[in-house]
Amino acid sequence: MISPLPFLPFALPELGEEEIAEVVDTLRSGWVTTGPKARRFEDDFAAFLGEPGLHCLAVNSATAGLHLALEAIGIGPGDEVITTTHTFTATAEVVRYLGADVVLVDIDPATLCINPACVEAAITPRTKAIVPVHYAGLAADMPALLAIAQKHGLKIVEDAAHALPTTIGGALVGTLASAVTVFSFYANKTITTGEGGMVVTRDEALAKRMKVMRLHGMSRDAFDRFTATVPSWYYEIVAPGFKYNLTDIAAALGIHQLKRLRGFQVRREQIAAQYAAAFADLPLVTPPQAAPGDTHAWHLYVLRLGDGAGVERDAFIERLFAAGIGCSVHYIPLHLQPYWRDRYALKREDFPHSQHAFERMLTLPLYTRMTDADVARVVGAVRAALIG
Ligand SMILES: *Cc1c(COP(=O)(O)O)cnc(C)c1O
Repeated sequence: MISPLPFLPFALPELGEEEIAEVVDTLRSGWVTTGPKARRFEDDFAAFLGEPGLHCLAVNSATAGLHLALEAIGIGPGDEVITTTHTFTATAEVVRYLGADVVLVDIDPATLCINPACVEAAITPRTKAIVPVHYAGLAADMPALLAIAQKHGLKIVEDAAHALPTTIGGALVGTLASAVTVFSFYANKTITTGEGGMVVTRDEALAKRMKVMRLHGMSRDAFDRFTATVPSWYYEIVAPGFKYNLTDIAAALGIHQLKRLRGFQVRREQIAAQYAAAFADLPLVTPPQAAPGDTHAWHLYVLRLGDGAGVERDAFIERLFAAGIGCSVHYIPLHLQPYWRDRYALKREDFPHSQHAFERMLTLPLYTRMTDADVARVVGAVRAALIG
């Protein structure tokens, strides 16, 4: 039976009059590409993270940011980068852009984040970096990963696409001791600029390299050194860089989305709590919570069918869809994707926890524009779909 109610999508952005006015202001200003608003967004982001010495660079996607980060730390042919199989392909593809190899490892079945023991077991003399993902908005085990990185002389680049605002040990992701942290402002993330991202590092040299590579390998250093004598048309190309800058049109959205982030977070937590309470008595595995005192960004609400669910995941999603509820699956693990599977001869048995979770998981709608009635409707549909 098809639901008489309107379809409830799996994700929707919340953009208001302030975002619209700021975009209009940008359009009227005549400055539409990277300029004062991108700079302001970077400054605001640094202020949000709230620690001195952080360099924040706005980019046109998190994928671009991850590419810049890995390039800056020197990843190249012959190197290996370890990441989780349970992620979106963007996390891994950037390693291939640089001609290096991806080593995929399994997850911790409790958190669905990369398993530090698997990381350590996968280290070879070629390993250069680890890319953890703060899956769904819950921090990966950063103390363990940072200790492994330090012990083996590896760099960490955090894929923080889900992790705004996420804390671990009371510290915001973005302020930890990794080389670089990369956030995403894609349409369905916790704040959005349509497309966009932010790269964060404490390391002056990495910041400088990423800034140059973000815009065609153009160095302003020569320019800066000679501003008194060289006119402003002068620049030097020091590398074959990329075109990864964020436009002021996009940054205009980001400035106001960031202001609303704390409010968005409150709403996301409310919805996650409503789901947790509603599903407690059902044969479902509800997502793990952050440690007491820490923040889960609740980018995604990933439910797993328990052993007694009596329904397969695909059929369950079909029932929800028929009830007018949009769902998704995060993710089809990379070890099942033809490119990754074939390139590295990956077998599902090598990733038992990711495989097990994938076969039972679905992502429910969770976004700030959902009303309590929308949440109740999802809860009702989940209950009904379990009974069949
Ligand atoms: C969304 C996402 C990305 C890519 O972000 P873009 O801004 O779209 O490039 C990377 N990694 C993960 C885990 C993501 O969810």
